[in-house]
Amino acid sequence: MHELGITQNIVAIVTEHAQGAKVQRVLLQIGKLSAIMPDAIRFCFDICSQGTVLEKAKLEILETPGLGKCCECGLEVPLEKPFGRCQCGSSQIDVIAGEELKIKEIEIEEVCV
Ligand SMILES: [Zn+2]
Repeated sequence: MHELGITQNIVAIVTEHAQGAKVQRVLLQIGKLSAIMPDAIRFCFDICSQGTVLEKAKLEILETPGLGKCCECGLEVPLEKPFGRCQCGSSQIDVIAGEELKIKEIEIEEVCV
């Protein structure tokens, strides 16, 4: 299960960003073609965030659909898998969206000074 390593990475990046402040919300963007299971990330997040500034943080996951572009005719093709076939019959499709894993937003508790 490679989601555990990915989640550990995310927790490490967010922890560094928060600089000791409590994190309230993390928004992840996960592409449908990335082969990363959002449910597995959620599960690992619960484990990985324990004892860190992310412990009570809300994890939100935004799934982005797969999109490819045909190399032959330039048509954009929605993709369920990292390969497909264009209407023109070509199977030469470049994946242009849906493989990403990004930390979109991090919400940190405001500290009153
Ligand atoms: Zn085409």
